[in-house]
Amino acid sequence: MRYISTRGQAPPVSFLDAVLNGMAPDGGLYVPESWPRGLDSAEARADIGQRDHLEIAAHILRAFAGDDLTIEEAYALALKAYSHNLGSFDSRVVTPLVQLGGGHWVLELFHGPSLSFKDIAMQLIGPLYDHALATRDQRLTVVCATSGDTGGAAVEALKGRDRVDLFVLTPKGRVSEVQRRFMTTSGASNIHALEVDGDFDACQAVAKALFADQDFSARASLSGVNSINWARIVAQSVYFYATACLLSGPGRVNFVVPTGNFGDAYSGWVAKQLGAPVGKIALATNANDILDRALLSGRYERASNSVATLSPAMDIQVASNFERILFDAVGRSGDVISSLYNQFSRDGGFDIPADARALLGENFCAASVSDVSTLEEMGFRWREGYLACPHTAVGLHLPQEEFALEEEFHAPIVYLATAHPAKFPETVERATGVRPQLPPKCADLFQRSEKFDSLPADAEAVKQYIRERSRAWR
Ligand SMILES: *Cc1c(COP(=O)(O)O)cnc(C)c1O
Repeated sequence: MRYISTRGQAPPVSFLDAVLNGMAPDGGLYVPESWPRGLDSAEARADIGQRDHLEIAAHILRAFAGDDLTIEEAYALALKAYSHNLGSFDSRVVTPLVQLGGGHWVLELFHGPSLSFKDIAMQLIGPLYDHALATRDQRLTVVCATSGDTGGAAVEALKGRDRVDLFVLTPKGRVSEVQRRFMTTSGASNIHALEVDGDFDACQAVAKALFADQDFSARASLSGVNSINWARIVAQSVYFYATACLLSGPGRVNFVVPTGNFGDAYSGWVAKQLGAPVGKIALATNANDILDRALLSGRYERASNSVATLSPAMDIQVASNFERILFDAVGRSGDVISSLYNQFSRDGGFDIPADARALLGENFCAASVSDVSTLEEMGFRWREGYLACPHTAVGLHLPQEEFALEEEFHAPIVYLATAHPAKFPETVERATGVRPQLPPKCADLFQRSEKFDSLPADAEAVKQYIRERSRAWR
């Protein structure tokens, strides 16, 4: 299995190289040269109820890794990530399904160590990095720009790992205290939390500048675990695949995905390409609605700045992974994507080609939800017996008419619950009157001591900081 860049200029690489590199050297994102087969057969799908998350993850990982992992190795990695005996996940089934009523389900993705869905991918990336770096006798500097939850999940996954130093860039004042504490209290010497004076897009711009500096990037052995990392997409496709196979009757299963970087939503598309009966994928955005606008108007265009909302992990104006779906939607032409994204950096937007718009419209729908509606939805759901975090509530608020496609109308709808309510206690309390409690495994979070540094949103300052601290530096 080889991986090509969405911009068409970088040479193809193996699975492990795609995972270790993060972004392709031509500025594009890695995608598989073709979709793996074998998971689309009726047999593979029929006995899904007999398999647990870890086993399905091993099979999907192996399918995408090709020759880079044997099935035994894939299974061993999935075991380290998801085994109930290791206790990383509260729930024995990793991603429990809760029925709200009728054909409405919530897929809870927040039972990992840092209480957001990002743990599901990150817990797998930790052992995967160890495996890849040990076989190559290499060290890595991981840089991660985060709007909150990726940072905590990366810290939990990479803390104490001998071959990796992690630098987390987070926008000052834009993350909740619980989110921040998951990044700053690990006590591990290989973890560096950096508070950057700017918004998430500024953090992302700094990270991009580090990767774009080829000399720096090579000397630091730079890698990213942001939502563009291919391993994250693979790990997230597992719950879409499993849930769609499990709940589909004769038809298909619709998903509602609270969206920022389009990573989770794209994983749903990947599961569909693997043959899972995924119907529509509904993109639920907050006021940062670039995806909603793009689907509606056909123009993908950044707004002047991201807006701070009650669902901060989605306060993103540039949805990185959208490039991957566009690549498929324009018939996998690197030239077209290159030219569109050149336009994007020049003019701040581009028109989505007509064919691509049609494919997007068949597979996705979108809506933007205000903070007021988010609070109302949380209150309403709590009175019905379900306590949701604000991101999850953005999804729960999506109008059902979004699914009024003839074929899909009676199909189940699965709402992804992306964070634990206790990760956003003030907002949850404001909406419901209930102060959600942290689960026992992290009940002492507010007693732990914090360690972080503050830096300007300036790539040179961050480079200097990393140069002085990375053990990978040559
Ligand atoms: C990251 C995150 C999202 C958005 O996920 P993307 O893959 O970036 O679209 C939604 N909800 C929560 C809680 C998150 O942490």
